[in-house]
Amino acid sequence: MEQYDVMVIGAGPAGLFCAIHATSPGHHVLLLEKNLEPGAKLLLSGSGQCNISHDGEIRDFLSHYGDHGKQVKPALFGFTNRDLIEFFRKRGLAMMTEENGKVFPESRQSSDILALLMKECKERGVDLRCGEPATGVTRTAEGFEIKTPKTTYLSPVLVISTGGASYPKTGSTGDGYQISASLGQPVTEIAPALTPLLIRNYPFAALSGISFEHMQFSVWRAGKKVADRTGDVLFTHLGLSGPGILDASRDIHPDDVIKLSFVGTMKREEFVADLTKRVGENRSWQISTILAAYPIPERLNRKLLNLSGIPDDLKCNHFSAEQRSRLITNCTQFALTVEAPGGFSVAMVTRGGVALDSVNLKTLESKTVPNLYFAGEVLDIDGDTGGYNLQVAFSTGFLAGQSIRKRWVGT
Ligand SMILES: Cc1cc2nc3c(=O)[nH]c(=O)nc-3n(C[C@H](O)[C@H](O)[C@H](O)COP(=O)(O)OP(=O)(O)OC[C@H]3O[C@@H](n4cnc5c(N)ncnc54)[C@H](O)[C@@H]3O)c2cc1C
Repeated sequence: MEQYDVMVIGAGPAGLFCAIHATSPGHHVLLLEKNLEPGAKLLLSGSGQCNISHDGEIRDFLSHYGDHGKQVKPALFGFTNRDLIEFFRKRGLAMMTEENGKVFPESRQSSDILALLMKECKERGVDLRCGEPATGVTRTAEGFEIKTPKTTYLSPVLVISTGGASYPKTGSTGDGYQISASLGQPVTEIAPALTPLLIRNYPFAALSGISFEHMQFSVWRAGKKVADRTGDVLFTHLGLSGPGILDASRDIHPDDVIKLSFVGTMKREEFVADLTKRVGENRSWQISTILAAYPIPERLNRKLLNLSGIPDDLKCNHFSAEQRSRLITNCTQFALTVEAPGGFSVAMVTRGGVALDSVNLKTLESKTVPNLYFAGEVLDIDGDTGGYNLQVAFSTGFLAGQSIRKRWVGT
């Protein structure tokens, strides 16, 4: 048996940051990781370049976590995007911001972020043990007992930062939900989020790779519109992806209908008027030439004609009312039925988790189990693409760590 002052389960960004900020002289912090190396998901993030945060105002972050942004306000405001950038800058790792506001390390290497966090852990005396999964956690009179295949660890304070259940090959297999529930902590239903959509009878498989910037699309359920959205959309082999779809995916269900507009920022009526004018003024032109005036890629142009029952070489003077009506609908409200959102194996994050109303959001200590803390994606919080998930992992890691440290040193 080995005794510590605090034990943190899971060495992703939240657990590493929590361990770093929980340390204080004379107190021993254990950071337990099931993989042979920490931070597997961090290394993958941003395609290995690590979109660590966003450059917006921190108050604007709150609208990027579905309905749960307000609940993580104490964590985000207590350790902001500016604080995160400064943390790395002070230690020699500068950040850069893209035009779209996404923040990356200047080196564009997530391994640099991980290396710095590990160095910081080492310097602060965190005892990082890898290749040791927590297989069971129990409460004892003195605190908590963690069993691993190698030994048993004891501590009065425990942090669960085991991440979500998505991308399980990175080690995030949902263990934290079971551990939390076994300790009596309420956990909400979980589901994949930031995930591509599989489309039933998908007609654009041959066009996979085509992407659209700021596409307008709407989501329909049982014949009623439930959301209007704008975002970047990508055709895949099996359906839709891209940041706009990933961000919307947390609220999309099987059988929902996604209606895509291929005519940029134009409203349907504007497109109808514009198309009618162009067709009327260019009677000898082919419809495909008229369509080329809109932001519709060449290959999609042909496909939309084909799906509207219009021959490739049809001229405006032979354009029937039915063909016109079908083409207008296909260009402005192309309907695709969702077979299913992609599963946990392809989802970037997990929706649901440790219930936020069962946690003191100013400290991240459980309201039901004293001395038990949470950080990162294991909590019921998931953000949009653009750096919002890593920021909340770091902010909650900081808050949990600081709250524990304050128990010992008072500030
Ligand atoms: C492909 C991909 C790209 C992404 N890109 C971005 C991006 O660019 N920007 C962004 O903001 N977000 C991104 N995300 C999301 C982001 O990576 C996660 O939200 C973030 O890593 C969550 O941090 P965490 O520390 O809470 O959990 P994790 O990073 O999942 O870490 C949890 C750790 O706990 C360990 N663990 C689990 N169970 C046990 C156990 N029983 N015992 C011991 N250890 C255990 C796991 O092995 C893991 O190392 C991306 C996600 C994916 C999958």
